[in-house]
Amino acid sequence: MTSAPPTADGALVLFSGGQDSAVCLAWALARYGRVETVGFDYGQRHIVEMEARLRVRVGLLERFPHWAGRLGEDHVLDLRSFGAVAESALTADRAIEMTQRGLPSTFVPGRNLVFLVYAAALADRRGLTALVGGMCETDYSGYPDCRRETIDAMERTLNLGMGGAFRIETPLMRLTKSQTWGLAASLGGEALVGLIVEESHTCYRGERGELHPWGHGCGQCPACELRAAGWDAWVAAGRPVQP
Ligand code: ZN
Repeated sequence: MTSAPPTADGALVLFSGGQDSAVCLAWALARYGRVETVGFDYGQRHIVEMEARLRVRVGLLERFPHWAGRLGEDHVLDLRSFGAVAESALTADRAIEMTQRGLPSTFVPGRNLVFLVYAAALADRRGLTALVGGMCETDYSGYPDCRRETIDAMERTLNLGMGGAFRIETPLMRLTKSQTWGLAASLGGEALVGLIVEESHTCYRGERGELHPWGHGCGQCPACELRAAGWDAWVAAGRPVQP
């Protein structure tokens, strides 16, 4: 498990309560002396996402006492007006399908960009210099705002436009879903893997229900399929730890 001394910098983790952002939160807690979390209410269909955020935070406090002193405030910002503009399968009653531009209907145009602007404004107020997000260009469905190139441009824009010195950290950017499980194992061993399996939420349909080896969910939506496939690949590889 990682237990290097923390840096003096503080980090703000974009934290949705999903598998990826839960790993990012642990990653930040292993590195930063002060970590806060931010979530965005943009009219998600599923209140379960917001509940998962709280359960993961509580689980981290309970299972990782050495991180507890580092985990600070949680913030939830109301972005429902954005959700109304960027209507998609996640925020409206629409089927999950591929659209004409070759992106799944779960893609919310501009979402990560908006999140980062709000997160940077909040981080500035809170004196936090690192923004940590679970964007990943490896396994995803080609979301253009998950590419590191987009993140680099956004980092530059935020620093130019806000006179800040932000770094946008994306620890999962080049990992596969299987390797993300391995990173969780590296950061917090089986206790962290278990917490993420049990409490983080990924399913687009908002189903909890049965606990599969990889977590709760319908098992059939694209998000569940990705999560389950990553888990299966990690187990098949012998659950390697990701350095
Ligand atoms: Zn699902």
